[in-house]
Parts: sequence; C-alpha cells; structure tokens
Amino acid sequence: MKLQGRVAVVTGSTRGIGRAIAESLAKEGALVIVNSRHQKEADEAALDLGGGAVGIGADLAAPAGVEALFDAVESRFERVDILVNNAGIPMVRDSAELSLADWQQTLDINLTAPFLCAQRAGRDMLAKGGGNIVNIASVTAFAPFPKRLAYATTKAGLVMMTRILAAEWAPTVRVNAVAPGFIKTGLVMGLAAEGKVDLKELEGRTPQRRLGSAQDVASACLFLVSDEAGFITGETLVTDGGWLAYGFV
Ligand code: NAD
Repeated sequence: MKLQGRVAVVTGSTRGIGRAIAESLAKEGALVIVNSRHQKEADEAALDLGGGAVGIGADLAAPAGVEALFDAVESRFERVDILVNNAGIPMVRDSAELSLADWQQTLDINLTAPFLCAQRAGRDMLAKGGGNIVNIASVTAFAPFPKRLAYATTKAGLVMMTRILAAEWAPTVRVNAVAPGFIKTGLVMGLAAEGKVDLKELEGRTPQRRLGSAQDVASACLFLVSDEAGFITGETLVTDGGWLAYGFV
C-alpha cells in the first residue's frame, strides 16, 4: 500500500468525485478525513470507507467552517499529509443575469475555501517537513464556456493558485491540480436534468466517446499524491477523455 498511515483530508467527499478519491486513498492505506456540510452524512461515508476513516461535518462556504474542519483534524491527528480540495458547486447563468450573491457564493466555496484549506494545511506541512495538495479544477479553466462566468473563473483561479503555491512551497510541499472534463456524477446529471448540458452531445464530442467516471479523476489524483509523481509540482492534469484536445466543434 503506497500511502500507509498518511493522513488525508478530502473536502466534499461524501459523494461523487470526492468520494471516489477518498475510497482510492483509503485503499492505499491512508487515514481519510471525509468532509461534507453535514456531520451525519460525513459519519456514514466514513463508516462505509472503513480503514479508520473519520467524518467531519463542516460547511466550507465560510472561513469558520474551514477552521472548524482543521481544528477537528488537529485534535485527532498529529499532522496532515495530503489535502484534496474537491468541494465545489456548479453555477450556470447568463452573465447578464448573474447576481452578486451567486458570484460571491461560487467564489466562497470554489476558490476562497480551497485557498484557506491550502493555507491551513500548508503551514502544517511546511512545519512538519512534507505534504501534498491537489486542487480539483475543471476543463472550464481553459475553455471559455458561455454561462459559466463565475464557475470557470474560480477554476482558472485554482489553476494559478496551484502554480504559485507549488513555486512558493517547494521543495517541501508539492501542489498539483486535476482538471476533469465531464464526469458522470450527481452534479452533471443534475445539470442534464435541468437541460443545461446535453449528455449525448458531450459524449459525441469526446474522443474517448464516453463521459468520465469519478474513478477516472480519483486515479489521476492518486498518481499526483504518490511518490511516483515526486518530480511533478505546479501541474494541472487534464482528465477529460481528450475533450480539450479535440479541435473540431
Ligand atoms: P457533487 O455535487 O457530486 O459533490 C460535491 C461535493 O462537495 C459534495 O460532497 C458536497 O457535499 C460538497 N460540498 C458542496 N458545497 C460544500 C460546502 N459548502 N462545504 C462542504 N462541502 C461542500 O460534485 P462532483 O461532480 O463530485 O464535483 C466535485 C468537484 O469536481 C467540484 O469541485 C467540481 O467543480 C469538480 N468538477 C466536476 C466535474 C463533473 O463533471 N462532475 C467536472 C469538472 C470539475
């Protein structure tokens, strides 16, 4: 097991991509801290995971939630070895209609929370001599999708945050990102149900001819936190079945 005994915090990990990441890390022997807004959900997911996983409910939309999460982690474990900034919300709106509240909420959860989590975990990693951070970005950081102004701006911000923290915190802490394409989770299925994305069209435009699975993203994340990726930092690994590389409409 590659990650035996390492302590890993995965934000927003009771379902979807975060859950697959938590499961993959646990399978490799990591002690996983499962987080979501609600304690009960986090406890249930941690129990399913086994391997000493701990559930911590904390709403990361506010800085106090980030503090509560890491205070609780610190009270149980001596260090944090791995942080995966996964929690995020979609936001699909005409830019002309995007309210300040929608903009602010997207920034709070998708960009400010990852910054605060990285800062809190990063200080500990720097003090204790090592660690790994992975930010879950999106292909929308690179492709200008109409109606994703707030969402894509946060994901592009995460890509730059990844590079700056990697440069600043090397050689002690490696900081990387994964940029998923369209992944079959509740988030994308919800957008499809609301008519905001067309699954058939997306599959047709993807060279690999399918949507991604949460496990596809978890595998990329597992590689980045492993010792095999020891010379990789500041990188964003696009995991999209070739969607971004494809040149035709
Ligand atoms: P999801 O909606 O299935 O899961 C999101 C998770 O984040 C949930 O566990 C939820 O409880 C948690 N969360 C949301 N707000 C939170 C808050 N305020 N505090 C704590 N936890 C909170 O979404 P998903 O599809 O699994 O997406 C996970 C990440 O991957 C997100 O950052 C998303 O932007 C990104 N992403 C997803 C796709 C995709 O196609 N599904 C593509 C690119 C990027």
